[in-house]
Amino acid sequence: MEDLQKLLLHDHGLSVSTLPEKGRCLFTTREYSPGEIILSEEPYVSVPNKTPVKSRCDWCFTSSNVKRCSSCQVVWYCGSKCQTSDWKVHRLECQLLAKLEKNRIKSLTPSIRLMVKLYLRRKLQNEKCDRQLQSGERFSISYPCVYGVLPSIYMYCDAKFQWFLLLNLTHFHKDISEVEEMQLVLYAQMASLVNIILQWSTLNIKEIAQNFSKLACNAHTICDSELIPLGTGLYPVISIINHSCSPNSVLVFEGRIATVRAMQTIPKGSEVLISYIETAGSTMTRQKALKDQYFFICSCPRCIKLGEHDDIEESAILEGYRCKNHTCNGFLLRDLESKGFKCQQCGIVREKEEIVKIASEEKTISNKASVALSSCHNKEALDMYLMVEKLQMKLCHPFSINLMRTRETLLKILMELQDWKKALTYCRLTIPVYERVYPKFHPLRGLQYYTCGKLEWLLGYTDEAIKSLTQAVDVLRITHGTNTSFMKDLIAKLEEAQAEASYKLSSMDD
Ligand SMILES: [Zn+2]
Ligand SMILES: [Zn+2]
Ligand SMILES: [Zn+2]
Ligand SMILES: [Zn+2]
Repeated sequence: MEDLQKLLLHDHGLSVSTLPEKGRCLFTTREYSPGEIILSEEPYVSVPNKTPVKSRCDWCFTSSNVKRCSSCQVVWYCGSKCQTSDWKVHRLECQLLAKLEKNRIKSLTPSIRLMVKLYLRRKLQNEKCDRQLQSGERFSISYPCVYGVLPSIYMYCDAKFQWFLLLNLTHFHKDISEVEEMQLVLYAQMASLVNIILQWSTLNIKEIAQNFSKLACNAHTICDSELIPLGTGLYPVISIINHSCSPNSVLVFEGRIATVRAMQTIPKGSEVLISYIETAGSTMTRQKALKDQYFFICSCPRCIKLGEHDDIEESAILEGYRCKNHTCNGFLLRDLESKGFKCQQCGIVREKEEIVKIASEEKTISNKASVALSSCHNKEALDMYLMVEKLQMKLCHPFSINLMRTRETLLKILMELQDWKKALTYCRLTIPVYERVYPKFHPLRGLQYYTCGKLEWLLGYTDEAIKSLTQAVDVLRITHGTNTSFMKDLIAKLEEAQAEASYKLSSMDD
């Protein structure tokens, strides 16, 4: 097994080790510079998200010009190229789906489809191995296709190895026994539907249910360049990469291909680390998210500071209250004497009752606002989120994550309503918080500069647009590379803005 892993990865400057406290880890065997591709991988299986409004191509996830597969009427493709690429597995799936009753089709979720595809792909692979064994051919399964700066490498192994890679992925600290009872019941129901679809006599429902809980920890959400979720995929090699709240690498997707890039210089012999969660929250919030979804306790350099003075201060800024004195930027901590919250800078105490009152009002409006937003009543939602913002400005620290989220929502609504000027105001308000909570080369930071630049360009603020778009390029060329159409668009916008600025300058000279 270890030899196979070496074969798989050593050409790429990578190796897999098993550490007692962490399980499998991916290490570098050479130095990587910022923006360099560490590895790219095609999914073993993938499915698009189910959305009521737009269907997506099962292979490339685009939603434009998609047509239903004429045989099963369930799966969509953007054209014959994608359909052909997916045919190997879909040929089997198609026959099964075509036989399925209408009401069962309705309960077909992406997770169920992913599991069905996983079993079908394994079946195909086992058959291929048998054939190769019988014909005396050498085992040569060209999987995983690892692209990158180096030519694709091929792994010579039996199909069982890949199954091993997929379903032994779960680190031992992701203990299935910790999955809640309710969830297990749901997995059992999902497993029985998988069983109904596949109709294999050898299937074990319990095993399928267990695989669902493993998928929950190991499948990746496939996003577009702007980090909008499109689907779910299983990436065996990328799944080996562990989590850190201050990662050295970032995972982005180009269509169905997942790419891990170095966000900073990674010395030889370091562990490659990505983040599984939103890293902006306080240590408590991050740890809860990791425990709930991935069943482990993070011990990254940020998390081991839990309870230390700096960590307490940071949590109070990110998720705590603001000082009564609005010119003071101090953070508040619970004060045992007065039972209120005391500013650690100027010493003023805020009464608990006052905080509770504003907080409950904020919560009520916030709930109503999110209902209005999800039912697409944008104008109504805008008014309510503006009220939420007002209350949060009274309640929260100026660098609060909650206030930042509200402003992100306001930005989205204002963009929908095409109120570009106000949208720009809100985009600009989020930037200082982004710069504080995200590291320099974080995709979200780059994307926010991009949004700012697009709005400034639209409003004719050429010089500001050049500044923001340049900041966006500086970040996103590291996280996204420069080869995608998304990045080419961005670079073209920057060049256009620069051309206009120099034209303005030259016409002023005349
Ligand atoms: Zn397609
Ligand atoms: Zn079909
Ligand atoms: Zn951590
Ligand atoms: Zn103060």
